[in-house]
Amino acid sequence: MRLTQHPECARYIGAGALVAQAKRSISAWRASGKPFTAGSHLPCWHVGDAEALVKSLADMFGEYNRVMWECFPYCRHCDGGCCVPDASRVGRFDAIALALLDISLPDLSEDIAASERRCIYHTPTGCTWPAGWHNIKCWSFYCLGDLSASVDGGSNQGSSIWERQAALTHELAHVVQSSLPDVLRDHERASDDALVAHLSDPVDFAQALDRALDEVFVQPFVAWYPLDGVLEADERTALAQESAIWTGRDASVEGDWIGALLELADAGVAVVASGSSSSCDVRCAVRDGIMEFVAGLMTELDEVDIGEGSSGFGISLDQLLADLEALEWSVQGFPGNGAQQLAVVYGHYVTVSPPAAGERPALGYRMGQQVRNLWRYWDRLVAAV
Ligand code: SF4
Ligand code: SF4
Repeated sequence: MRLTQHPECARYIGAGALVAQAKRSISAWRASGKPFTAGSHLPCWHVGDAEALVKSLADMFGEYNRVMWECFPYCRHCDGGCCVPDASRVGRFDAIALALLDISLPDLSEDIAASERRCIYHTPTGCTWPAGWHNIKCWSFYCLGDLSASVDGGSNQGSSIWERQAALTHELAHVVQSSLPDVLRDHERASDDALVAHLSDPVDFAQALDRALDEVFVQPFVAWYPLDGVLEADERTALAQESAIWTGRDASVEGDWIGALLELADAGVAVVASGSSSSCDVRCAVRDGIMEFVAGLMTELDEVDIGEGSSGFGISLDQLLADLEALEWSVQGFPGNGAQQLAVVYGHYVTVSPPAAGERPALGYRMGQQVRNLWRYWDRLVAAV
């Protein structure tokens, strides 16, 4: 199928941008020739220490997967039943590990082997990830196979699901306990959280390991070498493409999705509207996104009791409904005086406070951001073919 129509395309592009940023940050660290630390209680990291950490984790997972394949051969005989959309995850540590090893994500072509029901990296001959570093989530994953299927060659597979899980986690715990890098053993002691205690659920194990790596290495590293630096030209196009695929599915979240769409159109990349496999022009994609945003807000207003006649953030409910109507009207025909109308509407929301860190933006704040974004790009949208 076409890469751009796969449900994980946006995530693939985002992962590529993250790895590219990690490569720049690792280059800057190597060029500095200096170690860093983020506090007296944390280790002082040299490049060689980080390389050794990545290498020992790769060795640990090599052994972890060898145990799975040799002792529990149902996995070796399966063609990747777990390789479905959302199964893989490229976290910050994965990106840094790839950068330290100087290896890249699979370079997928415009036509990919995976169907929409398969992980984007999956092919009939297996996973296309590089052998040197597989993302932690996939590397950690196991299942208990099909008990009714008889597979030869394994040992101690157990006759019930519980026996099999006990046998498998026992073997995997042995691997983790004997191969865990010292810095993670120290973290286990300091946090009183043994990683093997998470092994009964491989997704939980991957998350616990990722959290530990984040605390001991990633957070101190990004304090010195940020991973969210200025985007380069090719990444801006990638981001635009990501936004295009996302547009119409979730235009209700804050973000410069209209700017990204215009960038995409400038780059000559086809825009795909929500729920459709055919491309459309940029105004049609913006209209879809805004209409979906308005519909989502109307549903929210129906579901949440915000008080009679009140919008809950300082303007009347009637005014909010009138503003939503004006927003809809503006994208129906992109009229010449649309910018002035939007400026008036934005004036009703300009004082609504942004959300505190980690909190969902208030309805009025989201409304203001959508109106402001539309107003900001109005002239370009009117001129767009
Ligand atoms: S973990 Fe389970 S679903 Fe995935 S490849 Fe192994 S046996 Fe198949
Ligand atoms: S990245 Fe590879 S192992 Fe992980 S889900 Fe995709 S195909 Fe499977």
